[in-house]
Order: sequence, then structure tokens, then C-alpha cells
Amino acid sequence: MIEIRKLRKQYGSGSRITHALQEINLTIDKGEIYGIIGHSGAGKSTLLRTINLLERPTEGSVFVDGVDLTALSTKKLQDQRRRIGMIFQHFNLLSSATVEENIAFPLRLAGTAKSEARRRVGELLALVGLTEHGKKYPAQLSGGQKQRVGIARALATNPHVLLCDEATSALDPQTTNSILNLLLDINRKLKITIVLITHEMQVIRSICDRVAVIHDGQIVEQGPVAEVFLKP
Ligand code: ADP
Ligand code: ADP
Repeated sequence: MIEIRKLRKQYGSGSRITHALQEINLTIDKGEIYGIIGHSGAGKSTLLRTINLLERPTEGSVFVDGVDLTALSTKKLQDQRRRIGMIFQHFNLLSSATVEENIAFPLRLAGTAKSEARRRVGELLALVGLTEHGKKYPAQLSGGQKQRVGIARALATNPHVLLCDEATSALDPQTTNSILNLLLDINRKLKITIVLITHEMQVIRSICDRVAVIHDGQIVEQGPVAEVFLKP
């Protein structure tokens, strides 16, 4: 369902060149939770951001549901991006908008009718356990609650894929567990494919089906979590 072929990404040029990704090949199946782990600077963020083309690869292709995103026009790419939600380490909420408004934001961009958007926001608030908090502003929420808003917003347009960029790295261990459980719950209930990047082994162990280990822009190991991390 996500297929990354011969992907390369370089930043800069001449003597200032950084090879952030070199020949990445990766297949992520529909409905799985796929983890990408590596140290800081390994290329995780660049790799994740090529899956919705927030980063344009220097070479190679990214297929999502059989469509090569690198070959699409800007307009068609926008449509495809609605099928791919994303959440962030620092949540990226609009501080001057309420929880409800934050969640409704992608629906407004997509031109969804107000009544339908209201119904959808209610559904999403219930899904992430924030029904009582819709009228609050982000500053009134805990870190875990903010990430729940981020998740609800990411799911607003019914994506097939959810990309998670160090989604629990700013949270304490207990809140991390509650967010990971929510992601697992969403994966099971909505059959959504989840791709997450992290530098924390615990995150991989607790919810991922398969994992890729990235080092200096290359995948050095990949497979089912139990196999990759049981090797001597
Ligand atoms: P990670 O997410 O694993 O920390 P990144 O994907 O952010 O790694 O970075 C991979 C490499 O690419 C690093 O060497 C980083 O310095 C470099 N890099 C990332 N973004 C840029 C950019 N916009 N311009 C130049 N170099 C970048
Ligand atoms: P915190 O940062 O306060 O630990 P959590 O992410 O653990 O935040 O939870 C956010 C809020 O949502 C809390 O008030 C919690 O009681 C509530 N909550 C968590 N899970 C659910 C759920 N499945 N259904 C309803 N409410 C929930």
C-alpha cells in the first residue's frame, strides 16, 4: 500500500551536500503499524516527510495506494494528501483556535459543509476521549490532550495512512502509553495504516508490527519487531 522505491534525498549541492537518504526501498502493508527507528540525523524525518511529499525526493518514487506521488500535479497531490494524515512531536495546533476549530481545520480546507463538519468533529472528539474539552484552547490542555487533538485533526478527512513524527517524544512515560494505546485502538478500529518514526525502542516494542532501522540514510535492518530485536 506504501511502496518506496530507490529513494534518494540530498540537501544542498557541491561541497555542502548532505546525502540524507541513499537508495531506500521499503514496502509497508495496508493496516500495519510500521516503525522506523534511528539516531538523531539518521534520516527518519526526511523519510517520513517523503511519504506525503512534504520533502520532494531527489530520485526515486513513492507509491501510496498504487499512485506514484512524485508523478502528480500539484492539484492532484493535494487530493492525495487528504488520504494521508500527520501528527507531530510538538502537536502543531493553532493556539488561537479552540479544540473543535483545530479539528475542523482540514475539513474547512476541503470545503466540507458546516453541518457535516460539526457532526464529524463530534465523532472525532469521542474517538480521542475529548468530548468534554471541545471549547477549550490548546493552552488549557495537558500534553497528552494536545496530542489527542492532533490525532483527531489528522483523522478528520478519513485518511488511509497516519504518519507520526516523534509523536510521543515530548510526553512523559505514562502519557506516552496512553497515546500509543490510542494509536493502536485507531489502527484496529479504522484499519488505518500507521507509519511512525522514533528514537525510542519502547515505542517500537509496544505497538509496531514491523520495524526498519535507519542509519546514515540507509536501512540497515528491517522485519517483524520480534525478529529484528532478538538478533544477537
Ligand atoms: P532524523 O529525523 O533521523 O533526525 P533528518 O531526516 O532530520 O534525521 O536528517 C537527516 C540528515 O539530513 C541530517 O544530516 C540533517 O542534518 C540533514 N537535513 C535535514 N533537513 C535538512 C535541510 N532542510 N537542509 C539541509 N540538511 C538537512
Ligand atoms: P494526560 O496528559 O492528562 O495524561 P491523556 O492523553 O492521558 O492526558 O488523556 C487525556 C484526557 O482524555 C484525560 O482527561 C483522560 O481521562 C481522557 N481519556 C483518555 N482516554 C480516554 C478514552 N478512551 N475515553 C474517554 N476519555 C479518555
